[in-house]
Amino acid sequence: MLGSSLDDETATDGSQDSDTFRLLVVDDDLVVRLVSRVALEKAGFSVTEASDGYTALSWLGSHRFDAIILDARMPGMDGFSTCRKMREFLEDDPVPIIIATGQDDDASIDAAFECGATDFVAKPLNWKIISQRLNSLIRARNIKKHLSSRSFQISSMLKTSSEAMLVLDRDGVIQAGHQIERLPSVIGQTFSAGQCFFECLPSHCVSDAFKTWKTATPTESVNKFVLNYDLNNTSFTIQGRFIAGVENEILCLLQDHSEAFVSERRMFELAYTDTDTGIPNEKQLVSELNLRLKNDLETGRHTLVIRYSASDLSGFEPRIGRRGLTKLACAVVERLDIGLDGFMTALPRDLVGTPALIARLSDTDFVIVLSGLRTIEFAEDLAEGLARRLSSAFEVDGFSCMIDWNVGGADSFETVSSADGLLSATAYALHSEPESLGLKRVRWFNAELRNTIYKDIELERLLRRDIADGVLEMHYQPKFDLSGLELIGVEALIRWTNTELGFVSPAKFIPIAEQAGLIVPLTHLVTERVFDQMVAWREEGRKEVPISINISGIHLSTRTIVEELRAGIQQRNIKPELVELEVTESIMVDGVSKALQNLNDLRELGIRVAIDDFGTGYSSLSYLRKLPIDCLKIDRSFVSSVNSDPTAQAIARAITTVGHDVGLHVIAEGVETAEQFEFLKQIGCDSVQGYFTGRPVPSKDFATFFDGAQLDQWELKNPAFG
Ligand code: C2E
Ligand code: CA
Ligand code: CA
Repeated sequence: MLGSSLDDETATDGSQDSDTFRLLVVDDDLVVRLVSRVALEKAGFSVTEASDGYTALSWLGSHRFDAIILDARMPGMDGFSTCRKMREFLEDDPVPIIIATGQDDDASIDAAFECGATDFVAKPLNWKIISQRLNSLIRARNIKKHLSSRSFQISSMLKTSSEAMLVLDRDGVIQAGHQIERLPSVIGQTFSAGQCFFECLPSHCVSDAFKTWKTATPTESVNKFVLNYDLNNTSFTIQGRFIAGVENEILCLLQDHSEAFVSERRMFELAYTDTDTGIPNEKQLVSELNLRLKNDLETGRHTLVIRYSASDLSGFEPRIGRRGLTKLACAVVERLDIGLDGFMTALPRDLVGTPALIARLSDTDFVIVLSGLRTIEFAEDLAEGLARRLSSAFEVDGFSCMIDWNVGGADSFETVSSADGLLSATAYALHSEPESLGLKRVRWFNAELRNTIYKDIELERLLRRDIADGVLEMHYQPKFDLSGLELIGVEALIRWTNTELGFVSPAKFIPIAEQAGLIVPLTHLVTERVFDQMVAWREEGRKEVPISINISGIHLSTRTIVEELRAGIQQRNIKPELVELEVTESIMVDGVSKALQNLNDLRELGIRVAIDDFGTGYSSLSYLRKLPIDCLKIDRSFVSSVNSDPTAQAIARAITTVGHDVGLHVIAEGVETAEQFEFLKQIGCDSVQGYFTGRPVPSKDFATFFDGAQLDQWELKNPAFG
């Protein structure tokens, strides 16, 4: 129900969709209960029944109801006692309770009001009238709740504002003062408890202030007045306003508007608020969040951060302009604000905690902070509800803008207790795999995610250490030509066996090395090992074939790569054409990238270039001619299904044909079976690499491959392909 109130614009005025109002009907007469249920459900209410006062009270302990209908006459605890007990239990929550009395039973009517009932109805019940009355009573109660929670919010808000507050009674007598030190001390000391507020003011200001007071008190509207002081040769300007508080109190908020103070505050605003939307910016968010966290840590409460990250806002700029983007940001904040307010107002007061904060972390990221929470069980509903709100289009200057949102939430109980820790947790959450999210839009930081992160951090630490210690080693996998099964090349593949983690697959640690800035030292280790190995094989008099090294796009974009490789091969007198680099298509996407420029330079040195995993990336076959490459490697995914999937077959065939058309060598990787081998041979692929012809092995086990592939077993069975 809370979730649905978010989607309903009218939630802002405290009301809810009537079809979601929940009623508790208490009557000992089964027939009355049944009839009530039918009639009220037809009118759109949801109905819970209780046959006596005790049952009703226990329902109240575990459920929230929007209104209660109580039979006056029941055996055991009668309606009046039940009502009294309910009021005690509900404390100051004004849930409407209607007592159903007999006809003309004046005594019952009096008793009904005495025990705290909101209204009474006479039996037999007229359902039409009752439904209408229920609706209006529930609406009134919601508005009342909204107002009182508002004033509660205002007083808490004072903590973060720069106002001082005086609490006045209905006659204007000062009851108490808060944050009076925010006023210049010469003024602050003029207010003391027990005095009439207006008697403390400079005489020329009294009538203005009093006028404001007179309009403010009955209407609960907020009007401002100004107090001018001339004290000790200094003039001061104080701005004031009155707000109706709870229980007949009037709050008088006073703020120093003297010139020096105003410019100071302006500076504060510039530094701490987002200029587009006026809400706190990152700086204020972090300092406020740290304060709240500290508080919550001491009191054992939750601090919750929900982060709404727009995938791209600048994309709208061509249509709506810079000013439109500002409007869009304001509209986002407004939706969040209204949704949040509606939701929090509908929550029982004791769940609400400290007033929520909405802040803008960056151009695209909006953050909601909830703190002082005893429980966060409503958080998911809230976060999902707001996400739904944000997902419909925004109208800006006649243009419709649909924003794509990623949403991440984090609870302080699950994270490091710092603003930074909590905000990063939301970042982890929103960038995490949206696996099994279903209809939900919000991803939460949890123990599982934390473990993955810790594991990655631990892996990074060990990898860094082992790279420095040179613990990683190389394996070599042979490549054979398809016609004569001769060795035509070797791929160098890195292997890491860590003392604590055991064997770790390169598919796992290479991406982490790339993220952690370890890819350059790692590749350095690889090239040194491989070049040394080439020298060793040369000195043993082995057949010289190109050895390929996998190079990550990140590394290929560095300024030093060309020089590094050139130095490495020159020092050892290695022929450049015996070195091949395997790169993925992704680096080719951006035609002017540094990586492409480096690749051209490397190729001018004589080094060969192969495109790895070909067919899975971005390349269109047609632009192959323009790239500085010598070889295509058909990706394993096509090879593995080449005998079962006609599409894979067609792709393998197309890559081979087009590759040959533009003069490239075409090799298939991941060849595991005779059938795959045979198909590749049929379509004219040049060479193969895979478990079928030879697995990756340490250099000491590589020797036999220099003599060619050993497919004797298979050839015996398939003499036609010998
Ligand atoms: P890749 O470049 O596509 O390498 C081929 C992968 O396929 C290797 O996995 C290899 O062991 C495996 N493989 C070879 N034949 C077969 C086969 O018949 N069947 C199957 N199922 N697999 C086969 P590996 O060694 O686990 O490497 C995974 C990836 O890690 C490599 O994919 C490459 O992208 C990366 N990698 C490996 N070594 C290095 C390195 O030294 N530097 C960089 N930057 N990346 C490396
Ligand atoms: Ca490769
Ligand atoms: Ca590959």
